[in-house]
Amino acid sequence: MSERISVLGSTGSIGTQSLAVIKHLGLSVSSLAAGSNIRLLEEQARDFKPSLVAVFDENAARELKTKLSDTFVRVASGLEGIVEAAGDGSDTVITAMSGAAGLIPTMAAIEKKKRIALANKETLVCAGSIVMATAGKYGAEIIPVDSEHSAIFQCLNGQGGGLSRILLTASGGPFLGKSRAELQNVRKEDALRHPNWSMGRKITIDSATLMNKGLEYIEAMHLFGAAPERIKVLIHPQSVIHSMVEFTDGSVIAQCGLPDMKLPIQYALTYPKRLRSLTEAPDFTKSALTFLEPDLNAFPCLKTAMEVAKRGGTAAAVMNAANEEAVNLFLQDRIGFNEIYEKVVFALENVKSVKDANLEEILSADRQARELVRKA
Ligand code: NDP
Ligand code: MG
Repeated sequence: MSERISVLGSTGSIGTQSLAVIKHLGLSVSSLAAGSNIRLLEEQARDFKPSLVAVFDENAARELKTKLSDTFVRVASGLEGIVEAAGDGSDTVITAMSGAAGLIPTMAAIEKKKRIALANKETLVCAGSIVMATAGKYGAEIIPVDSEHSAIFQCLNGQGGGLSRILLTASGGPFLGKSRAELQNVRKEDALRHPNWSMGRKITIDSATLMNKGLEYIEAMHLFGAAPERIKVLIHPQSVIHSMVEFTDGSVIAQCGLPDMKLPIQYALTYPKRLRSLTEAPDFTKSALTFLEPDLNAFPCLKTAMEVAKRGGTAAAVMNAANEEAVNLFLQDRIGFNEIYEKVVFALENVKSVKDANLEEILSADRQARELVRKA
């Protein structure tokens, strides 16, 4: 069980919920890191008294240093500062930064043999083979925070093999049942209104395009060493079953819970123990549990991600980077909803994929994809 925690991305949706769980469990915080939100970082620093706070933005870091000059909290800046926070005196690092920016700090934490409570799925999408191999080499545990992967992890606990399929569930997002033509003119306000979960803006848009499920498909492949054809996406609009595992004897084990990220966050910190949490158990008389096939014509991002999963090499890093940039453009009202997919395909067609890529080649593919999408 974890005792001293480092929270990377502490000002975000997962970050703030992580701090609530840390407080509930009475654990201590050794470091905090975020992009630029120093107003909240200052509050968090005074509340949790970490020894280090890292801010990616250099100017914001300078300002925070002045604000915290009456405390013992040290302030670091830039990627170097975030990496320092990832490798400080904690035993567990919660990776709650958004996007591929989480990759290098996560690798730094792995090399320090820490438990990784992994929320930042983009890290595994970009460089899953390298990340998992490095974690194996250093003996760093990776415990998933993403609710579906936490569910799969829990369903696999104590099983003696015989895994047949992973049933990865998806709520379907705010546009479930709509056709591609009907999605042509949807606005960001509609896309940002998720029916079941309250999350950061980027992942909320990914949930509307189903790219989030595509990223999770690749994440599951790496975390559980599963071949893509053994992962099946299932739409389950109520988000009560967080995923299931099917075994060769025909048994299926599911993990259920209310849609509240504090539950998988806590499990990643207390594993293998279970402690009282801030979340109630679901009441199964409240709603029926239903399941549907995903509509890959209306939500082609999911189809593309499933193809990319089979392709390997740098394709997933390209897809992920292009998607991050395209989601940004959509959030700035510069492209339409369906154009997110078009940008991703454009990048996949125009950035050369490298097989068995090393970290530098992955980062280079990521940069090329971003430039292409920004320029086009
Ligand atoms: P948010 O956008 O709410 O938060 C992102 C956090 O990352 C903020 O603290 C932000 O700081 C920080 N950040 C951004 N860029 C940098 C950087 N370059 N260096 C350091 N910190 C940075 O995202 P979410 O909490 O929703 O998601 C975080 C991760 O967890 C994502 O990978 C997402 O896919 C995953 N996840 C989220 C779920 C959810 O329910 N929200 C569920 C499952 C997975 P600042 O505020 O200063 O910009
Ligand atoms: Mg998820």
